[in-house]
Amino acid sequence: MRYFIGNWKMFGVPKSRNILNKINKFNTKDKNRNKYKVIITPPYTLIESYAKYFKNKKIVVGSQNCYQKDQFSSNTAAISPYMIRSIGAKYTLVGHSDNRAEGDTDLMLKDKVKYALKNKLKVVFCIGENKLEKKNKKTLSVLKKQMTKVLEKNFNKNNIIVAYEPIWSIGTGKIPTGSDLKKTTVYIKKVLKDIFNKKSPAVLYGGSVDGNNVEIFREIEEIDGFLIGGASKSSKKFIDIIKNYYR
Ligand code: PEP
Repeated sequence: MRYFIGNWKMFGVPKSRNILNKINKFNTKDKNRNKYKVIITPPYTLIESYAKYFKNKKIVVGSQNCYQKDQFSSNTAAISPYMIRSIGAKYTLVGHSDNRAEGDTDLMLKDKVKYALKNKLKVVFCIGENKLEKKNKKTLSVLKKQMTKVLEKNFNKNNIIVAYEPIWSIGTGKIPTGSDLKKTTVYIKKVLKDIFNKKSPAVLYGGSVDGNNVEIFREIEEIDGFLIGGASKSSKKFIDIIKNYYR
């Protein structure tokens, strides 16, 4: 199974649903539709209405983040996995570099993963090195640390997906070379296999994916799909990624 996950970030109002309607329509007719899942993570404000609307359709709705507590607490503006799940989300991102940059620590991320799984949300756990770490050839050690500090053997790996998103690639148009990306993806899967003591969960790539460069990524069979930011705000760009992936 491949995954095409669209992360809307701070984008979208109720009528933006039109974008998803077009993606859903494409998906319904696509001859490859059984080979992949489309998941969209709109802002919190749209999860409930979109999840209701797409309930029996092809698009699955997720959340971009969740608070590191289970149900209810006195943290102003915080939204828990329980609350997210109760309005119909099926997935949540955890550890996006935007949120790490705003203060999410490994300890907080561990609790986010733990409580998301407890509340039956599948977790898309994001990891990635920054420009300096890449320059200093620290990519693999940074990724290993990000995974081993948060993921535990007793987490259900069937409900976890890992998204490798080099920070220097997000929103920049820059992408890793095919050979670097293959090497990194194989390494990530090896670390995950060691953590879970069984087959690795799915590993996605994210960072400036578009309809043109997806052809490079599709050569790397270890990549199980994509986390797509900018291009997920346009139905045409998002559909082009899927079309070109299966071309
Ligand atoms: C992201 O923020 O998760 C992302 C991958 O963004 P973009 O596709 O715009 O680089």
